[in-house]
Amino acid sequence: MTAGIDGSRAAAALFERMDPGARPRLNVREQDGVPFLDAKVPGPFHVLFATRVGGESIGPYSGLNLDLRSADDPRVVERNRSRLEGILHLAGSHGTSGAEAGRSYRLVSPLQVHGLRVIGAAEYVAESAQRAGHVGGGVPCDGLTIHPELDRGLAPLLLFADCLPIVLVGEVDLAVIHGGWRGIIGGIVHAGARAMTGVPGLAVIGPSIGPCCFSVADEVADAFSRRFGPEVVLRDESSARVDLWAAAARSLAELNMAPSQIVNPRLCTSCNHDLFYSYRADGPVTGRQGCVVWAADS
Ligand SMILES: [Zn+2]
Repeated sequence: MTAGIDGSRAAAALFERMDPGARPRLNVREQDGVPFLDAKVPGPFHVLFATRVGGESIGPYSGLNLDLRSADDPRVVERNRSRLEGILHLAGSHGTSGAEAGRSYRLVSPLQVHGLRVIGAAEYVAESAQRAGHVGGGVPCDGLTIHPELDRGLAPLLLFADCLPIVLVGEVDLAVIHGGWRGIIGGIVHAGARAMTGVPGLAVIGPSIGPCCFSVADEVADAFSRRFGPEVVLRDESSARVDLWAAAARSLAELNMAPSQIVNPRLCTSCNHDLFYSYRADGPVTGRQGCVVWAADS
C-alpha cells in the first residue's frame, strides 16, 4: 500500500491535500522518512498526527502501524513506535534547550473501546499498573488529559483508522480523545472538556473519515439528525452518509467554541488511504496511525 510513496512525497501530499484554511495552523514536517502534521498550539503543548508512511510493517499493516493490539508482529510495531518516540523527542526539543532537549517521553496508549471515559494520563498509568501490572494493560479509556505538572513526562498516544482524533487545548491542560461515531453521538467531546481543568480555547481535528465516505445505516443517520440536526446527514437515493466533522464541530459549538477556534485539515482517511490506515478502505485487518500529545517542560 505504501510502497512507492516515501516520506518527503507523503509530506508534500499532506500539504497539497489538506484544506488550505488549515495550512497556517498545521506544520507539515518529515523526520527520518516519517511525515507528520505538527499543530501550532499555544502553551507548552505539542500535538502530532502521524500517517501510515515511514514504518516497517508489511502486508495488510504495511507502514507505520503503531497498534500493539493488532495481529501485526509486535517487535515491528515496537520499532515503529520507537521511530515515533524519536520524532517526539526531536519535536519536543525544537526551539528549546537545556532540560527539554534531554527529555524522553513515555508513550501511554489507552485501551480504546468507543466509550466516554476521559481521565488524566498519570491517573491512567497508575490505574493500569494496579489492574494489570503494565501500562495499557486493558483499562478501557477513550481520552486522556495532559497537565504539565501532574502528567510530566507522559505522552498519550491514541490510535486511529477512520475515527476522529480530537484534541482540546486550554490554558491549563489539554485533552486528546477518540471520536468514533458512538463516542461523538454519546458526548465524548463534552466528556473531554469536562475532564480538563481549564476551558478549551482551541480544538484540532486530525485526519479521519470524511462526509465523502462515511456511509451508515439509516438508524445511525436518523440518530445523528436528531442529535445534531439534519445538516450533518447527506442522503441520496441509495445511501446516507454522516458528516462526523460537522457533528464534532456542533459539539464544540456547544462548548462555546467559534469556528475560528477549530482546526480541521479535512483529510479523509478513506480517500487518502495511500497516506492513512482506513478501516473503510482497507477492511478490518489494517493498522492504526497515531495522534500523540505532550507538554514540554517549562
Ligand atoms: Zn473520503
